[in-house]
Amino acid sequence: MSLAERLLARPLKTLEPYQSARRIGGHGQVYLNANESARPPPNMPAGETWQRYPDFLPAELSAAYAAYAGVASDQVVAVRGADEAIDLLIRTFCEPRQDAVRIQAPTYSMYEFVAEAHGVAIDSVALDENFDLNTSANTQLEAADGALKLVFICHPNNPTGNQISRDRIITTLLAQRDNALVVVDEAYIEYCPAAGLQDLLDEHPNLVIIRTLSKAFALAAVRVGFVLAQPDVLEALCRLMPPYPMPDPCARIAMAALTADGVTAMQQRRDETNVLRETTRGSLEALACVETVYDSDTNFLLAEFRRADVIMDRLLSLGIVLRDQTHHPLLPRHLRMTIGNAQEMQQLLRALRELN
Ligand SMILES: *Cc1c(COP(=O)(O)O)cnc(C)c1O
Repeated sequence: MSLAERLLARPLKTLEPYQSARRIGGHGQVYLNANESARPPPNMPAGETWQRYPDFLPAELSAAYAAYAGVASDQVVAVRGADEAIDLLIRTFCEPRQDAVRIQAPTYSMYEFVAEAHGVAIDSVALDENFDLNTSANTQLEAADGALKLVFICHPNNPTGNQISRDRIITTLLAQRDNALVVVDEAYIEYCPAAGLQDLLDEHPNLVIIRTLSKAFALAAVRVGFVLAQPDVLEALCRLMPPYPMPDPCARIAMAALTADGVTAMQQRRDETNVLRETTRGSLEALACVETVYDSDTNFLLAEFRRADVIMDRLLSLGIVLRDQTHHPLLPRHLRMTIGNAQEMQQLLRALRELN
């Protein structure tokens, strides 16, 4: 039995996936199996078969992402954003009041939110002083309040902006090989593509990678993400997927983003963002109100301010909205700022100079 089958939440072990018309399939010319409207709706853009349900899993989209990511087509499933991937993973593998997920704090808050909402215990391990992975804690097979099913690692990490050491992730993968899935959230990987872990998928059956088109691909509104893993893990995830998960227009927009032209355009925007991030970082470091600006491999910067609360309020009164991180014990005076366009960065810096 594969690890994914063993880890599956018990009710799912015997659950038959929902048999939608598209899943049951069948080929013909006259489709009368899904109670769709016979006629298209009026006044809709051309190019879609609006009245028909979409495919269960759009194979072309998985294939396009697989080609982009450099993995096999059967190692990709498309989802409605990385957040849906987090939700599906927790509900597929974790049982309420019994299982646990491990997170690396401070990190993206959805892991904890979804686990808590599902009644799953959270084993929170602090990142080290460089915001890198604590390997001795992450190689532990047990969690205090439940059976460990998933280890979430955000790489590069939100909100700290740094990559997690590949060696430490591999050490964790090996230690957890027969015990838990290691879920690496690569939402920001396009900003540091060499750090992607997709080449480890074949060797590490417990590796799961989450990707999204919401950040560097600039398609947050379209809600498309991907899970990269061995087919047995993906098969387990698909058991819980709703009958028609991916809206056709979203799949089509995602396909356009993944063409050669789409990828080149993404890379150009990404390069501009990376340059602007570094000049912004330099400017921030020169300000008296700023204590530390952290290195970042993402489209945001984390900075420690002398008076984060005052800065946050004063910027808000000028209509400039940053993300407050002061609720994290390790980030008591820290704010996170997205790299916007050049003019927005000028506005931010001008405001901060005046507050100095
Ligand atoms: C933005 C973000 C997500 C959410 O991505 P969607 O695809 O828009 O759901 C997931 N993980 C991290 C670390 C993020 O920063």
